[in-house]
Amino acid sequence: MTLALAIHGGCGTLPKAEMTEAEWAQARSDLASALRAGWAILSKGGAAVDAVEAAVRVMEDSPHFNAGHGAAFNTEGEHELDASIMDGATLAAGAICGAKRIRNPITAAKALMLRGDPLLLAGPAADDFAEHEGVDTVANEHFSTERRRKNLASMKLREIVGTAAEASEAEKHGTVGAVACDAQGHLAAATSTGGYTNKPVGRVGDSPIIGAGTYARDGRCAVSGTGKGEYFIRYCVGHEIASLIAYKGLSLKAATDAVLAELSEHKVGAGLVAVGADGSIVAPYNTEGMYRGWVTEDGLIHVATHDHVELAGQA
Ligand code: ASP
Repeated sequence: MTLALAIHGGCGTLPKAEMTEAEWAQARSDLASALRAGWAILSKGGAAVDAVEAAVRVMEDSPHFNAGHGAAFNTEGEHELDASIMDGATLAAGAICGAKRIRNPITAAKALMLRGDPLLLAGPAADDFAEHEGVDTVANEHFSTERRRKNLASMKLREIVGTAAEASEAEKHGTVGAVACDAQGHLAAATSTGGYTNKPVGRVGDSPIIGAGTYARDGRCAVSGTGKGEYFIRYCVGHEIASLIAYKGLSLKAATDAVLAELSEHKVGAGLVAVGADGSIVAPYNTEGMYRGWVTEDGLIHVATHDHVELAGQA
């Protein structure tokens, strides 16, 4: 079976000029570390679902991506985190939303998946669950960074002067996600996010919604999305792609392109990574850039922020 691993760090990539070369290098290096963490599991015969959790954890701990440390602020200047994970072998899934204290939301989502029922926990119940399971909890400020604080200030200003609709994808968005195919041919997907900057308190996006921002089903595909969550939910993006493959016989590329084209009609930023039943990988997006990366069969790490894809050594 072809091992496969692909990740994204959100389609809200900054324009190149807005970060120093050293910061870009750090972001690419964090993407490579996420791929190494996931590949270490896959290459030893581990499960896809463990690999996607490991990859997402690394990006949650990086300040460069809008998930975990580095998450977007809501309108009250707090962080509310959403995450989900799905095992394509069994269709088991776990999700949390509106969490404020879980250091690695994806690990809490996986703990919930392993428990089996309920599938989705919200707000304080999610935080309490994590604590009870021994998953690391932290103060809400742990997730704060200077860049996101600036994003919040600029979105609030835009709100006052009425230019919120013109905000760049980078000011608003971000998410992290991973998809994988393991040696047994099992697929898995995981997604984690802080949502978007200046989101209303209590707003839940697509990332914790199984079938929308996250979906995995053996024999079809695994998908993790990034972009305007409200549209990912309306189009049931993950499940729609799986259905186009299953019922219309589309290839992974044709199915993902078709769904992304529908989202693009609404002029919303969108991107995703997906892996097919045969281990093929796609990473399409409609914004200026999307943090992304994948490992090819020969174990070579590829990472990218904008058009140019770089090799980052052996996994
Ligand atoms: N999809 C995420 C959400 O709507 C945000 C993003 O990926 O930019 O919460």
